Amino acid sequence: MPHGNLDRPSMTDESENSEWSAALKDLELRSRIRWNESLKRFNTWRIGGPSRCLIDVETEEDLAKLLPFIKKNEFQWFLIGKGSNLLIHDRIWEGVVLHLAGDFKSWKPQKGSAGVSAGAALADVTFSQRCVSHGWSGMEFLIGIPGTIGGAVATNAGAHGGETSEFLKSIRWMDLEGILHQDSCDAFEFAYRFSKLDAKQGRIVVSAYFELHEKDPQQVKHALLECQRFRMEKQPYNQPSCGSVFKNPPNDYAARLIELSKLKGKIRGRAQISPKHANFIVNLGDASSDDILWLM
Ligand SMILES: Cc1cc2nc3c(=O)[nH]c(=O)nc-3n(C[C@H](O)[C@H](O)[C@H](O)COP(=O)(O)OP(=O)(O)OC[C@H]3O[C@@H](n4cnc5c(N)ncnc54)[C@H](O)[C@@H]3O)c2cc1C
Repeated sequence: MPHGNLDRPSMTDESENSEWSAALKDLELRSRIRWNESLKRFNTWRIGGPSRCLIDVETEEDLAKLLPFIKKNEFQWFLIGKGSNLLIHDRIWEGVVLHLAGDFKSWKPQKGSAGVSAGAALADVTFSQRCVSHGWSGMEFLIGIPGTIGGAVATNAGAHGGETSEFLKSIRWMDLEGILHQDSCDAFEFAYRFSKLDAKQGRIVVSAYFELHEKDPQQVKHALLECQRFRMEKQPYNQPSCGSVFKNPPNDYAARLIELSKLKGKIRGRAQISPKHANFIVNLGDASSDDILWLM
């Protein structure tokens, strides 16, 4: 999960911390910097230790300053969307977490078409709800995915037979030098829950342009409600999890194989393989990252 130089110890004591803090001040960021913030609130498993430094990156200008700064100093770092596909360790994270916010939540419909440019930090749920009011169909499945548009592009999120890359036309992304690029989606080898546009690979999604199908808004709403109903029926939607833990192998389902192994319902510490859906591991309350790892 983490990116950057993992061997480099960073910010391990107060003096180093303040040195870091001074260097960040020189960047004159508009973004909010938080020190020793618990990461539990930043992921859907509600697990994880504090991060020495977490930055709510508000603007593209700030991102363009931060990425080369992190690279030059060889800091450990990772980028987080809504943390709905991440397991964060309980130990303190001695690096920096970039959390896109502010301007990255943009929504810019193109006049006279079913096209929209969405910021990387916009919630998938918000995206799908706004599509309903426009009568835009195709990505109703996002209603059940509690991540961001950046995360949906990075993981090529999908459900109910659809996936993000089907509707994605072009992407604005930034490299670790802070340089902004715009490319058609063909450049990124989208596949089942995979893309080359991941922060782990040094590419940060800034915004994405989608083209959807025009339909009667009532029909779009109906499809969206169907997706929601399916989730409530089949998944432990009211317990903290990261959704499906394992990808499905070709021509089979991970949940079926886990169930076959008689592991459904298995508990370790305060974590459990969900009795409702065997590919979900749920936090029963105060689970540790080791509880989850053990079950995995
Ligand atoms: C209840 C539940 C149901 C789920 N159902 C589904 C489902 O049906 N289908 C599905 O595909 N997934 C599902 N998921 C998993 C998850 O929601 C998706 O993978 C989602 O796309 C992750 O988005 P995120 O913003 O939370 O990313 P995060 O979990 O924060 O990050 C995931 C990865 O994406 C990278 N990333 C995030 N933002 C960017 C960015 N702007 N630029 C570059 N890289 C970025 C991160 O660095 C990290 O490597 C589910 C999760 C939960 C909790």
